[in-house]
Amino acid sequence: MNNKIKINLLMLIFLTIFFPVILGYFLNHYLNMKYISIPLHSGFEVSGGVIAIVISMIFYFKYSKKHLLTQYNRITIALLTMGIIDIFHGIVMPGKLFVWLHSIAVFLGGTLFITVWINNKIVSKKIYKLIPLLVSLFAIIVSILSIVFIDYIPEMINEDKTFTITADLLNFIGGVGFFIASYKFLFDYIKKQNINDYLFAGHTLLFGIAGILFVSSEIWDLQWWLWHLLRLSAYIIALYYLYIEFREEIKLIEKTNNKLNKANKEIKKYISLVDEHVILSSTDLQGNINYVSKAFCKISGYSKKELLGKNHSLLKDEKMSKEFYEDLWETILSNKTWRGEIKNRRKDGTSYWIKASIFPIFNSYGKKIGYSSIREDISDKKIIEKISITDPLTGLYNRRYLENILPGLLNSLKRENNFFSFLMIDIDFFKQYNDTYGHNKGDKVLKEVANTLRNTLKRKDDYYFRLGGEEFAIIFKSKTVENAIQFSQSLKNSIENLNIEHKNSKISDKITISLGLVCKASKEVKSFEDIYKEADLLLYKAKNSGRNKVVSNL
Ligand code: GH3
Ligand code: MG
Ligand code: MG
Repeated sequence: MNNKIKINLLMLIFLTIFFPVILGYFLNHYLNMKYISIPLHSGFEVSGGVIAIVISMIFYFKYSKKHLLTQYNRITIALLTMGIIDIFHGIVMPGKLFVWLHSIAVFLGGTLFITVWINNKIVSKKIYKLIPLLVSLFAIIVSILSIVFIDYIPEMINEDKTFTITADLLNFIGGVGFFIASYKFLFDYIKKQNINDYLFAGHTLLFGIAGILFVSSEIWDLQWWLWHLLRLSAYIIALYYLYIEFREEIKLIEKTNNKLNKANKEIKKYISLVDEHVILSSTDLQGNINYVSKAFCKISGYSKKELLGKNHSLLKDEKMSKEFYEDLWETILSNKTWRGEIKNRRKDGTSYWIKASIFPIFNSYGKKIGYSSIREDISDKKIIEKISITDPLTGLYNRRYLENILPGLLNSLKRENNFFSFLMIDIDFFKQYNDTYGHNKGDKVLKEVANTLRNTLKRKDDYYFRLGGEEFAIIFKSKTVENAIQFSQSLKNSIENLNIEHKNSKISDKITISLGLVCKASKEVKSFEDIYKEADLLLYKAKNSGRNKVVSNL
């Protein structure tokens, strides 16, 4: 025990025990007078009672979250009982009932206060809530029964105005109860040095001394007033305790508030960063937009106002297929996250590519309320991708793209009931053309041939490539074999009909092409390598057998 605690304890014992006892002795022996004032007395008791009830209820709410019965809840029970009976005492006229009510208040309060020695205990929510109610009911019933059955109450005041042995005993036992409780608080204070325990030690010591002083006092004498004063002081101490608690709590709230404010600012900063840079949107179940981030507006070219309430299909690019959107909806309708790349359309009609994750959102009851998406602008990536699969001179797909699409293409052929054709094309005597007309003119011819391919092929699953140099290839599908041959022939004619002069060609006076055609029933196509080789061979045959012709496997 350090000196500070020792001094504090000595001060406490002096103020709550020695000083009141000496003062009480002095008052009774040297100032032997009486002061009769019912209103002042009522004032003391009722205000004490009210403070007790208020304190007890505040304690109870304070610990109600965990439903943990602490020593402070036990104080509640004692204070509540005492407070209620004291109020009754304060409002009845002096006499037997008056002393009885006070005495049982002290007796019950003191004995209940001993329960602070019991360890903390978690109880059910119901019990926790019921306890104050039951205690209040008990105190009210005891008071009312006392008033109704006044004749059965033992005598409290002797003929000579001193208190009876019953009254003395009730007060004495109650007082001892307070002393026992105070020991617990003193003990805790020495152990933990908590100001609350110190204040409650003082509180209970004052109550204890008041109980003891009662025995040697007479009604209205100065000692009698003294112990009333002590009890009121005890209540004021408890009130001070509450004030300290309250102040601490306010400080804590302010501190937490400051922290929250700081965190809030930080979060706002992040939110605005996200808003600024992350392409986010949310829709209802029908796809009507109810939230968009700034970044979303920026990339789409629409303002927030223009987007909110509109359907997400506003951004649809008609080049995205129906199947694509069907797959997307199927995924999110089954509550899964859809991931993929989407081409969208800006307000100004230009398009942009995004990589999106689209997922369902649920409310707190688990009900699906819409969809959210987080997107990434991949337009640049798409441009690079496009460059890497496009032949820069003609704008046709290159050989790399042919290799890219083959696995998917072969896969889809299994289900088709038509003919698959691979057509290899090579310009005749093109070296001579370059030598005669120059490389620039040669390039122009390559472009014109490419345009002709492009214009003759209009279907979505037809593909044309520049394989390299003056070699081209076409993948197309047809209902019959004849159609495939016909198409190849007409392509050959179209090039001839371009009427591009080629005076050094050994077979014509204009640009011509040779073609090798492989045509197979789609279902029978197993590997592409064989088809490629075969087409190459057929093209070679076309060259060797006079050029400007189609040679096919049919
Ligand atoms: P053949 O009828 O047997 O096909 O004869 P060819 O001269 O067309 O074939 P060869 O393979 O001997 O020559 C192909 C020529 O194509 C060589 C080259 O000058 C030309 N060539 C390849 N790439 C380009 C190009 O990008 N631009 C131009 N202008 N010419 C090219
Ligand atoms: Mg060639
Ligand atoms: Mg050639």
